Amino acid sequence: MKLYKIKKSNIDNRGLCANQDIKKGTRIIEYKGKIITRKKAEEDPKFDNDKAIYLFNINKRYDLDGDFKFNTARLINHSCDPNCEVTGTGLKVWVYAIRDIKKNEELSYDYGFSFDKDYRDYPCRCGARNCVGFIVREGSRWRIKKNNLKRKKINI
Ligand SMILES: [Zn+2]
Repeated sequence: MKLYKIKKSNIDNRGLCANQDIKKGTRIIEYKGKIITRKKAEEDPKFDNDKAIYLFNINKRYDLDGDFKFNTARLINHSCDPNCEVTGTGLKVWVYAIRDIKKNEELSYDYGFSFDKDYRDYPCRCGARNCVGFIVREGSRWRIKKNNLKRKKINI
């Protein structure tokens, strides 16, 4: 039995959710795509964007382009409180559970977007208690909170 199923997402259009209880550390689904050289990724205008959701760095030489319909894992949404992470082993990329996941819970991971001036173009509706309202990687979210504080002061 597959560990996941496609569902209409609460977060965005479609997503994946757990088809059964999943233990932390479980390999849930392969993140499929095409292996390309990092050089090609750098030259291809398709990836000329820091927000390349479907591009994963595998090692010094190769990236994985997962922007294909056959890559079911691309339906997984971003969350500010994710239950999965995407990690490479060799030339394969897998989605792992980073905590125990209950049946029917939506799968999510941190898209890892950097914080830059256009972060407002990528709103987050994950609904997590710690949601900062935008898709920004965990390590940079404090910047948004700081920004909001500044904004408040100006409004007063
Ligand atoms: Zn969020």
